[in-house]
Amino acid sequence: MQHSYEVLIIGGGIAGLSAAALFARAGFATAVFEKEDYPRHKVCGEYISRESVPFLKEIGLETDHLPQIDRFLLSTTGGQTLAANLPLGGFGMSRYAFDAALADCAQKAGAVLFTQTKVESISDLGAAGFEMRTSNGLFSGKLALGSWGKKSNLDVQLQRPFLRKTDAVLDGWVGIKHHIRYANHPEDLIALHHFGGGYCGISRVEADRLCLCYLVRGEALRKAGNSIFNLEETVLCRNPFLKSIWRDAEFLYPKPLAISGISFQKRSPVINGVLCLGDSAGLIPPLSGNGMSMALHSAKIAFEHGSAFLNRTKKRTDLERDFTRAWNRQFRRRMWMGRLLQGRFGSEALLSPTISLLNAVPFLKSAVIRSTHGTAF
Ligand SMILES: Cc1cc2nc3c(=O)[nH]c(=O)nc-3n(C[C@H](O)[C@H](O)[C@H](O)COP(=O)(O)OP(=O)(O)OC[C@H]3O[C@@H](n4cnc5c(N)ncnc54)[C@H](O)[C@@H]3O)c2cc1C
Repeated sequence: MQHSYEVLIIGGGIAGLSAAALFARAGFATAVFEKEDYPRHKVCGEYISRESVPFLKEIGLETDHLPQIDRFLLSTTGGQTLAANLPLGGFGMSRYAFDAALADCAQKAGAVLFTQTKVESISDLGAAGFEMRTSNGLFSGKLALGSWGKKSNLDVQLQRPFLRKTDAVLDGWVGIKHHIRYANHPEDLIALHHFGGGYCGISRVEADRLCLCYLVRGEALRKAGNSIFNLEETVLCRNPFLKSIWRDAEFLYPKPLAISGISFQKRSPVINGVLCLGDSAGLIPPLSGNGMSMALHSAKIAFEHGSAFLNRTKKRTDLERDFTRAWNRQFRRRMWMGRLLQGRFGSEALLSPTISLLNAVPFLKSAVIRSTHGTAF
């Protein structure tokens, strides 16, 4: 039997769930397909730029009670530091709580959530819409949104060109996350500590916890004998800030969460008629601190154009063109800056002169920080 909805949303992370809340609230029959369940921990730095606060309020999620973050500190293993105020700033919320709260907003708005349901393939049938094969049967819909994140079986099924490219700076990253208790970290600070082969972000989330999440080159982990424990002890702890954390903090997970094969390659915002949201349209390096707000913002853009299509005021070809233009206008510059900064962070030899320059020219420091955050939406 085939089930039919107006909007099919593949992937119930930040982008998919917020899009579901918007479409369902506007009265469109909306279904979200998520291969896992809620709540669950995910590898993420859990700092959310405040540009998304008005949007989150609009879909029913309040953030005022969460740790508010207004200062930034960057350090290197050599002891160099760069401190800055964050003009827009952010707040901290664990993905365990955030995704579950968004799932609640989507359901309250009227969306149907199919959890533990993996989408195996999606086909574009032209004027007849889309057909999807899932682990829970066949579904059809008029509009399909791809919010399956940074890495999915669907990228392979759709033969996305970015999978065929390789780049020394953009490919082969591993993400690792802990939750810790550590009294010596100020509530309003996000710190980024560089180490050989990567960088580690630390900031507060709810319930008196801190999120400690780092990105490291796969080869650095291999050199440490593929042991996270070895890597942390012999590489991360060369940075004096990280050494103090590993000495004094209480680590709250029995073992860290890890994901490998992270790629920051350019992707396209539309693939086989599917409008891509969040990371599936492009993953920004997390040192720009903004992937989650971009995921939320892309949901808003998809709603503006997708609802016009469903209300028959926009043709399908115009929908794809207009969505791509709007995505590029909003995110292309930030993605470019994110990739540039990721290159600088690759080695301390490049990072040190960059920090010296930014410390010497405050105007430049503010401009770089501003370029990593968008404007409120
Ligand atoms: C190490 C690291 C640290 C980061 N730190 C930050 C940070 O501090 N701040 C910030 O703003 N951003 C950060 N980001 C980026 C942020 O995590 C992402 O931009 C954000 O999660 C994107 O949301 P999304 O909805 O696109 O994807 P996701 O949240 O990944 O959701 C995708 C969902 O799709 C599901 N899915 C995949 N395939 C299928 C399928 N075939 N069928 C059904 N379901 C499927 C997955 O299970 C998943 O739940 C970080 C990223 C990394 C790698």
